[in-house]
Amino acid sequence: MSVIEIGQAFGFVSSFTNSAATIHTVSIITTMLLLTELINFFNISQLLASYKMGGIASLLTPEGMLLFVAPIVPVLLCLEVLALGLMRKLRLHQYKTTVLTHVLNVIIGKFLVIDALAFVLKHLDHVSPFKTSMTCYWFIYSYVVWEFSQFVFHYSSHKIRLLWCTHAPHHTPEHINLTVAYSGFFLQAIVAYAIRCGICIVLGVSFQMLMLIILLDGAWGGLLHVSEEILPDGRLGFLKKWIMTPQHHRIHHSRNPEYIDKNFCNFLSIWDHVFRTYQKPLPEVAPDYGIARKINANSFIQMYFSEFYYLFLDIKNTKGLKNKLLYPFMPPGWHPQLT
Ligand SMILES: [Zn+2]
Ligand SMILES: [Zn+2]
Repeated sequence: MSVIEIGQAFGFVSSFTNSAATIHTVSIITTMLLLTELINFFNISQLLASYKMGGIASLLTPEGMLLFVAPIVPVLLCLEVLALGLMRKLRLHQYKTTVLTHVLNVIIGKFLVIDALAFVLKHLDHVSPFKTSMTCYWFIYSYVVWEFSQFVFHYSSHKIRLLWCTHAPHHTPEHINLTVAYSGFFLQAIVAYAIRCGICIVLGVSFQMLMLIILLDGAWGGLLHVSEEILPDGRLGFLKKWIMTPQHHRIHHSRNPEYIDKNFCNFLSIWDHVFRTYQKPLPEVAPDYGIARKINANSFIQMYFSEFYYLFLDIKNTKGLKNKLLYPFMPPGWHPQLT
């Protein structure tokens, strides 16, 4: 959403364009810019647009209600920070690298014109033999297919070195909080959308159904990162038998040998059971968050780029063209002597 659109939504633009006082204009522009970033951060631009077009009635439709899902994680993040502050447990350095990652991704994202979803739709939509409709049964089918695509993407991100380089920034934080949900190399989102949406579209999930699931799953994926100080247990009672809970995802973020490369699913645990990567919490093993290689987790440069640097060093130092070409596609930890 542009500054002008925000201005129009709030009726600022006419007063801003007619104003002669420069200082007044600058202050209004600054306010609008801050407002734009705030609105974009809270994902409420569509909510505002829908309200402006159709009033309160438009927000009471199924599509309108979905617009309330997207701001859940940002709002909870603010509540998490507020609650930790009130409990005097807020450690700002635990948020530094993840917030910087999000800011960098937002800035780069503004300059990227790649729309992975549009690309996949254009080239794969005609391949599917059928299309789901918006019914309960198709919703369940679509969610199981989406979770499969999530498993494929996430597992590949841990087992293919080049994809691991883009996923590692999500795993380097040594403390879990809601900002971790935003941390990842900026190219990861494009790869994620291409793989997940590609699989879903080929298996017949309609565009509308895909959008609905992406919104719901995105909100849940964010909630999985709620901090231990806010939700110490994180097992969600009987629900843990069927769905992935914050506790399951904390295991995924742990570098303990018992927990590495486990719990790849996001909402339904079905595919972790099928592919035997499901791991429940072990009472005697407390999660130790971070990646196996020792790095300075408070250094943004190390957190964001170091995996690429080490891949570059491995390619540079290995002998033979075949080995150099293999490195980006083999799992982390692989070297030619192992084959
Ligand atoms: Zn992961
Ligand atoms: Zn995570």
